[in-house]
Amino acid sequence: MSPAQKPKVAVHKFSSCDGCQLAFLNLGEALLQVAELVDFTHFAEAGPVQPDARVDVAFVEGSIATPDDMERIVRVREQSRFLVTIGACATSGGVQALRNLAHAREWIADVYATPDYIDSLDTSTAIAKHVKVDLELWGCPVNGRQVLGALRALLSGVVPAEDSDKVCMECKRKQTVCVMVTRGMACMGPVTRTGCGALCPSFGRDCYACYGPAENPNTEALGRRFEGLGLLPEAVAGRFLFINNAAPEFLEAGLKFSEKQRG
Ligand code: SF4
Ligand code: SF4
Repeated sequence: MSPAQKPKVAVHKFSSCDGCQLAFLNLGEALLQVAELVDFTHFAEAGPVQPDARVDVAFVEGSIATPDDMERIVRVREQSRFLVTIGACATSGGVQALRNLAHAREWIADVYATPDYIDSLDTSTAIAKHVKVDLELWGCPVNGRQVLGALRALLSGVVPAEDSDKVCMECKRKQTVCVMVTRGMACMGPVTRTGCGALCPSFGRDCYACYGPAENPNTEALGRRFEGLGLLPEAVAGRFLFINNAAPEFLEAGLKFSEKQRG
């Protein structure tokens, strides 16, 4: 296929740590095979830089946290047939959305000698709060399997399958022993969407919800279970107000348990 005939793909970075772009790069040989089939017009971390080129699929990493982000995302949307968010930052605002609950200006003044040089918004928000998003891929970071699956589906004209099952379901399918039942760990698996293959429980660790809320998450019941395990309401709130703190289901639960702590 000549470069002119190949579908065009861009990978854009907004306010983020670059970890989700690394999920692409870590595909290794599979990425080289993808590069045979598509033309990466913009992927600064890998080389090509044409941010304003028209593309079939734009992957967007990172949240909207600066005035420049706000302007750029509108241009990306205009130039893209499909826009796919990759990762917690782009899909829910990321861990940096904790600033939405704080006094961002005061913190900046505490940290930087010349705060006037810092040109950031007081909030960090998901891409979908600003432009239409065609598909959201959760995770911190996303994994390569998700990204490749989405790309394949979109370029074949198929609606990509969405994983909104709970991590618990994945543990059962893999016959991973439950870390909450057997070890008393405050695992977020019962309210977290799968997609990672229940990675943390399979290594004997509790899930900390990096894939965001699953469908119909019973956050109230899980929070009470955590209290039964000995966590104070403040610690329960901290379980929800973490990487996906701005996802509405987690935000509501986190604020409720924070309120309970204050009495
Ligand atoms: S979702 Fe996580 S890994 Fe991806 S850019 Fe944000 S902080 Fe980094
Ligand atoms: S088990 Fe939970 S914290 Fe671990 S990778 Fe999966 S979703 Fe993320």
